[in-house]
Amino acid sequence: MSTTPMQMSEARRFQQLKGHLSYLKLNDAAEALNRVLDQARTERMSLTAALERLLEIEVEATEARRLAARLRFACLPEPWTLADFDFAAQPGVDEKLIRDLATLRFLDDASNVLFVGPPGVGKTMLSVALGRAAVEAGHRVYFTTAADLAAKCHKAALEGRWKTVMNFFAGPKLLVIDELGYLPLPEDGASALFQVINQRYLKSSTILTTNVGIADWAGAFGDATVAAAMLDRLLHRAAVAGIDGPSYRLRGHRNQAENLRAGVNSRAS
Ligand code: ADP
Ligand code: MG
Repeated sequence: MSTTPMQMSEARRFQQLKGHLSYLKLNDAAEALNRVLDQARTERMSLTAALERLLEIEVEATEARRLAARLRFACLPEPWTLADFDFAAQPGVDEKLIRDLATLRFLDDASNVLFVGPPGVGKTMLSVALGRAAVEAGHRVYFTTAADLAAKCHKAALEGRWKTVMNFFAGPKLLVIDELGYLPLPEDGASALFQVINQRYLKSSTILTTNVGIADWAGAFGDATVAAAMLDRLLHRAAVAGIDGPSYRLRGHRNQAENLRAGVNSRAS
């Protein structure tokens, strides 16, 4: 089949257009070009509509790549979202406060969030869920435990990378520090944590979870002055969510125990 000069130039133009898209690294648009042009022809789309469709494909792919990169960076330990949290099962949590936090308004004025409560009540789950919401809203988030943060800082100090590690922890729009107080922090750990909190103070938000009631911080962190200074920075602008409800993890065991007891009682009666 012979091609007319008109078709020749169309084919060349198509290749050039595809080349331009690839050169500009709009690879998803380049790959979709043929399909979109076909669609434009069969559906008699306007030029504007066809261009919009082509670039929309590239924008969607870019957004998906960036979201995946932010999620990888965030190191969230579980895929939990707020939808997974059963408020009915945890009467100890203030649902209205959590829903308000989930709007992420607290990130705008660099407020902090403290989840305080015994093990198993959902502190980690709620911080992961808020972290995930922030990632999905386009923010840079990083999740760590207090012990890991202390260990990273300790190692960095030994290797002469103190400034780098401090910059790293200053970077995220939201830093989640889980499990403060579960393990005793070494002295340089408490001081590293204070420096991290201090340099984020009034600049970006930190979520902290702890099993240590605020009144007991001085005792829990060895140095009462450091503990007081840390609390001062943390609480200046903060939402404190004390969760004093039952442990979700122990729920199954509790039910078993109750069933056993009920069984014994019904046999006894
Ligand atoms: P904490 O950090 O307070 O020790 P976690 O957040 O790790 O507690 O929760 C313990 C376990 O129970 C997790 O598997 C979590 O998903 C689950 N869990 C806790 N609270 C709830 C809840 N209200 N709804 C659903 N799952 C929950
Ligand atoms: Mg936890």
